[in-house]
Amino acid sequence: MTLSDEIKAKALQLGFDACGIAKAEPLTDDAQVLKNWLNKGFHANMGYLENHFDKRTNPQLLVNGARSVIVVLLNYFPAQTQPESAPQIAKYAYGKDYHFIIKNRLRELQTFIDEQMSNYSMVFCDSAPVLERRWAERAGLGWIGKSGLFIHPTFGSYCLIGEIITTLQLDYDTPQQEHCGTCTACIKACPTQALSAYELNANRCISYLTIEHRADIADEFTLPMGNRLFGCDICLDACPWNKKAKAHHTPELQPHEQLFTLDWHSFSRSTFKQLFKQSALERAGYQKVKKRLDVIIQHFDNQQKNSATF
Ligand code: SF4
Ligand code: SF4
Repeated sequence: MTLSDEIKAKALQLGFDACGIAKAEPLTDDAQVLKNWLNKGFHANMGYLENHFDKRTNPQLLVNGARSVIVVLLNYFPAQTQPESAPQIAKYAYGKDYHFIIKNRLRELQTFIDEQMSNYSMVFCDSAPVLERRWAERAGLGWIGKSGLFIHPTFGSYCLIGEIITTLQLDYDTPQQEHCGTCTACIKACPTQALSAYELNANRCISYLTIEHRADIADEFTLPMGNRLFGCDICLDACPWNKKAKAHHTPELQPHEQLFTLDWHSFSRSTFKQLFKQSALERAGYQKVKKRLDVIIQHFDNQQKNSATF
């Protein structure tokens, strides 16, 4: 067994669902794509995406002497989903904040690697300028679809990504081909026309509007946003590669059981604290979530006074 094999086996033992390894090198093509995307202003008010441009496209500037990017995936597809009529929360946010779950496991993997061979490494999960989806693709784990999301052939897009960038020389996996073919289901399904092939305009994306956007949401989005409360899974749910998604086996990602039976009309701060402790929603804050919930309830009450069921 090579060290690369041992690292992958350990990653699975720690509860990750897949692990691959890519060579740490500058992402020259991605740098151009990112530059064009930023120039169009498609990152909306996420100004932080303009920061650390060089580091974002070159792992050797993040970790001095980096040779390998070890990428792990964690399936998050839940065994049970919310009733469709309820204010919708993106599935990744049902349980505890995944950043902590993934980073804790990555640190264990990092310790294991350190015990095998001297190296310098850093752990990342959605918190540093790293093009995670591209590294998952380069590590042979799947491909980036027209939705702009990473797709694993078994777990689909319902997987979270984390990385260890290390100075170790390892065996590199071969990237897979893209398997979107002629499908455009995600683009057609997007209710706000935020997607064109491989490009997202965050200004129009419900996920951005309900999580990152700080100002009031423009009226033109009220109807297409429907009952999306926090995040949006519409393009994921439309993807044929996600139709056979299997339920995850990570206890920390389990939602509070009341999520499925909650009376949202009486949603209070204490309910919020109880249901969303240490979750992504807690990070967003009660006021932001409640503000969006009030819009949804008002909209539904106006539109369907007699048929709203949540
Ligand atoms: S997350 Fe929702 S709004 Fe954003 S691109 Fe996908 S379907 Fe469109
Ligand atoms: S919905 Fe179709 S085009 Fe979009 S990511 Fe999935 S397979 Fe690709």
